[in-house]
Amino acid sequence: MSVLIVDSPASAGHNVPPDNPEHPGRYAAVREALKTLTGPQWIESRSATRAELERFHTADHVERVLVACASAQAGEWQGLDWDTHVQQSSAAAGLHAAGGALEAVDQVMAGPVRRAFCLARPPGHHAEPNRVMGFCLFNSVAIAAEHALQAHGLARAAIIDIDVHHGNGSQCLAENNENVFFASLHQAPLYPGTGREGETGLNGNVLNLTFADNASAAHWRQRFEAEVMPALARFAPDIVLVSAGFDAHEADPLGGLNLTETDYRWVAGQIRTCADKFAESRLVSVLEGGYDCPALGRAAAAFVSGLSGAP
Ligand SMILES: [Zn+2]
Repeated sequence: MSVLIVDSPASAGHNVPPDNPEHPGRYAAVREALKTLTGPQWIESRSATRAELERFHTADHVERVLVACASAQAGEWQGLDWDTHVQQSSAAAGLHAAGGALEAVDQVMAGPVRRAFCLARPPGHHAEPNRVMGFCLFNSVAIAAEHALQAHGLARAAIIDIDVHHGNGSQCLAENNENVFFASLHQAPLYPGTGREGETGLNGNVLNLTFADNASAAHWRQRFEAEVMPALARFAPDIVLVSAGFDAHEADPLGGLNLTETDYRWVAGQIRTCADKFAESRLVSVLEGGYDCPALGRAAAAFVSGLSGAP
């Protein structure tokens, strides 16, 4: 089955201060790697509306981000927290990152394409309803989950977060909505310091799996198969959303885990199987972290290949 890539060219315009690892080169690296694949169809993202953002974020949050972007002087940054900075062009990048995820949901709901990967930055999974955080302005995957539930009338949305960092913003959504299931596999201790094992959300709709520095890929896979897959089966989602960060790769400078391209292809296959079984194959994945550009590109391409079922 073909995979739809929802490309957000505005991502290239979100410049960041020197030495910030979440830079435009990440978008270029993933785009170049995905362009080597022959199977996917490509479309461009759209801009999210304020009403769509405000299904998850507060109106104050949306206003604060957009005003900060608009008020940045040319070539200067407005700092929203210690590692989250914006320029004027960041508004389009953020709105299209969220809008790309919304477009992907619309596409997989309409068919015939059922699996999508959103190529966009900045990432989103740390952004909370009223707070930017960790490079993230708007929480694309949470906004997409609300869109699937509210605009399309689905009953249950699952979010699987494979980024090496805990998706604290997305967990906020599950903690306030029992129709959302959130599973995160992340290194601990590590930024942002949230996501303890044993947190269960509402009626068990939160599952945090933590991994020590230098944990093996085999251990990561074993826990995914033994714990995430059964929890997904119990939840029986109508759509599967993925926070596809690739900073659990063995080459990543921010994470200490040991996944490789083979593991990203494998986990895409696991998630695809779940979507096929419960969600009429509806699967939307969103790029989150990944900070070694060559490894990021290879991992994303392996993941998208795994979504397609290509050998
Ligand atoms: Zn990350």
